[in-house]
Amino acid sequence: IYDPFCEEMDAKRAHELRIVGVGWAACEGALISPPDSVKTQEERPFRVFTPFFKALQNTDGMRDPATSQPHDGAWRAPVAWPDTLEIADLNLHPPLTPSGADWTQGFNLATPGERGARKMLRQFLREGLADYANGRDRPDVNVTSRLSPHLRFGEISPHRILLELNKAVAANPRLSAPAAKFRSELAWRDFSYNLLRQQPRLHTTNFRDDFDSFPWRNDPVALRAWRRGETGYDLVDAGMKELWTTGHMHNRVRMIAASFLIKHLLIDWREGERWFWDCLLDADPANNPASWQWVAGCGADAAPYFRIFNPITQAAKFDPKGVYRARWLGGDLDSYVRADKAGTPNADPRRRLIVEHSFARQRALDAYQDRNRHESD
Ligand code: FAD
Repeated sequence: IYDPFCEEMDAKRAHELRIVGVGWAACEGALISPPDSVKTQEERPFRVFTPFFKALQNTDGMRDPATSQPHDGAWRAPVAWPDTLEIADLNLHPPLTPSGADWTQGFNLATPGERGARKMLRQFLREGLADYANGRDRPDVNVTSRLSPHLRFGEISPHRILLELNKAVAANPRLSAPAAKFRSELAWRDFSYNLLRQQPRLHTTNFRDDFDSFPWRNDPVALRAWRRGETGYDLVDAGMKELWTTGHMHNRVRMIAASFLIKHLLIDWREGERWFWDCLLDADPANNPASWQWVAGCGADAAPYFRIFNPITQAAKFDPKGVYRARWLGGDLDSYVRADKAGTPNADPRRRLIVEHSFARQRALDAYQDRNRHESD
């Protein structure tokens, strides 16, 4: 994995092994193409996704993912393994909560490891891919691959994914449009790693330093309410509860929950990045900070500052029957549909709103516009 911590660890291990006379070879495979391999014509790193993606499409990793894949069984296991501990011996399972509950029970872990990753991929190609282009933004339907934890921990290579994707399209050409969409999402991961290469402290440092003096609010009460899913905005709260319970959050809801913290509450994106890092099973050193910076507007290819997600209309659009919200917040579906029709943020009017939407939106616009003015002074 191309993050500064792992690269340093690899270099140390390689050095130690060399000293004792053991060979070391690193194989490409964590990204579609290694970070330094995709550059502009002027040999500079890309800062904008679209031209980056165009260039990535001309790399071997994208054009011919088969070349990098060893055939199954090509690497032979040693005849005898050294003595070792069983995983259970390591006692890794976290302790129960004071009330005796197993707080990991909601974790939606399929089967960790390569076998589990391959199974997940096959399932996605069979059941999710056909609807991916239309359905990937809908948290109430289940069409995305859920491969992110497997990719994060190197349990599957994007080359393997592309190879199987290409085979699926060859067998059924109607999958070609959703497959193209899926390839571009996978490419965002490579793009994040390119940004991490340009700014190794991506989780703490604004990619654009003109954001360094942004007037973030210090509001521990609001931050705590956001973390606990108690903002009063149903879609945001459902997402935060999904995150805490399962270690996953749907991408569309991640964008809305992140935008809410940053723009509605004007709380520093680094607070949100840290919480996601602690809670996500796919917490990724490149994707997580790059996505947070994208939402905050301080990233390389960032969302425009005036794009402030409206959590009320987003809920009606992407969870039209209330299925996702009811799953995490309870209540009957009709109450969510009624709330959407009335344009209210929640199905239960007794729930207090942490901040009123139009006030928060204007406050964010003012703060961002102010920043723009200072920048052009
Ligand atoms: P699919 O839609 O099936 O996509 C396949 C793969 O492509 C994903 O597994 C992922 O590796 C990659 N991918 C998809 N969308 C993106 C994207 N927008 N940016 C980068 N890569 C993408 N992703 C992480 O892997 N780790 C994180 O820590 C993380 N933090 C995020 C924080 C915020 C605020 C936001 C808005 C997004 C974040 N993402 C992160 C990106 C995205 O939400 C997840 O990759 C996606 O939801 C994982 O679900 P999936 O595997 O079903 O995705």
